[in-house]
Amino acid sequence: MTVITNKNDVTAIRPELEEADSQGLTDFLNLSLSDMRAWFENHGERTFRADQVFQWIHRKRVLSFEGMTNLSKDLRQKLNESAILRAPQIETVQESADGTRKYQLRTYDDFMIECVFIPNASAAGRNTLCISSQVGCAMGCRFCATAAIKLKRNLGAGEIVAQLYTVLNDLEQNGYELDKTKPHAQHVIANLVYMGMGEPLHNVDNVIRSIRLIGADDGLNYAARRITVSTSGLVKNMLRLGEETDAQLAVSLNATTDDTRSEIMPVNRKWQIKDLLDACRSFPLKAGRRVTFEYVMLAGINDSDEDARRLIRLMKGLKSKINLIPFNPHPLSPYERPSAERVAVFQRLVADAGFSVFVRTTRGDDIDAACGMLGGEKLEGAREQELVNISLSDAS
Ligand code: SAH
Ligand code: SF4
Repeated sequence: MTVITNKNDVTAIRPELEEADSQGLTDFLNLSLSDMRAWFENHGERTFRADQVFQWIHRKRVLSFEGMTNLSKDLRQKLNESAILRAPQIETVQESADGTRKYQLRTYDDFMIECVFIPNASAAGRNTLCISSQVGCAMGCRFCATAAIKLKRNLGAGEIVAQLYTVLNDLEQNGYELDKTKPHAQHVIANLVYMGMGEPLHNVDNVIRSIRLIGADDGLNYAARRITVSTSGLVKNMLRLGEETDAQLAVSLNATTDDTRSEIMPVNRKWQIKDLLDACRSFPLKAGRRVTFEYVMLAGINDSDEDARRLIRLMKGLKSKINLIPFNPHPLSPYERPSAERVAVFQRLVADAGFSVFVRTTRGDDIDAACGMLGGEKLEGAREQELVNISLSDAS
């Protein structure tokens, strides 16, 4: 697998979906139902087998051909010889006192990614799963530990959906009631948020494909409106997300002037706040929906009353919901978290102007649970990744 160094070259990291890899293996996790039918036809098999395999993977969450018990032994052997399911494997699971479960998963080529299950105690079933879209991130935000890892590679669509399936399987084994006959996972994970490691819109093809795979009728049939994709502001791909999926959009705004935003988020040098908010205005919002704006609060940087007033002006006319995320300090970042009073005053100013504004509390503190903040360094012998305590924003 190539390590990506050019952050703008998205096409170079697009997987060749229907094609086998250098070992002659096709990753079935990446295939749509029609891709799978074509594969079976090309391999002299009847196409209804493709439907069965697709359902095993995407509805029943069986991530090995061996487990597909209604396929003949011969067919399973054939699949084992020419196909593969490259699901990341659970390396560790840590559960926090508040029930948050952090999963470290190892990809087939030994990168570490993470996803975090955030239970909602106050509303049964309104749980959130935060998943990763890349190993590391190329965007370089100065407050974010994932930035320090840089981008190692994109995750394939299959590696993205497998995070959901693996967590559902794990929850089931740990006493969460899951009914495999039901085509919905929504009663366990009400919100799926692309807020883990990586910039989802920098891997937009695979992210869109993953949303389709988990939404497939023969799969979990997971409703795209329960999915939130968070972007640092990759304006060129925002519209595509809106046009090609029904997913909700979250935008990490994080500052109210271009100077400050460019300083903390290099992406702002390419697409400034005006470009970003124009793109939000043209985003095809479904009736009753709003764009979520995330605002990481950094003491002395973006948390003044003046910032609150500028934020109010910027948000005018936008259908918005604003999530204030008090910064979670970590050794890789120079910033500090504002006091609770400062956050409260800021929130009040924005709320008094008529906006929906929430303060997102950090979850899973005691296990360093953090959406996307796991070091994804390639493992060479010993585990070299660095765990950093960063905020976890519950986007529900
Ligand atoms: N790359 C995407 C999604 C992953 S980051 C994005 O940037 O939107 C998810 C959220 O965590 C973003 O809103 C980001 O601004 C926020 N975040 C990153 N580091 C943080 C930190 N140290 N403290 C608080 N929030 C942080
Ligand atoms: Fe990447 Fe998001 Fe972190 Fe920025 S905040 S470096 S875009 S993961």
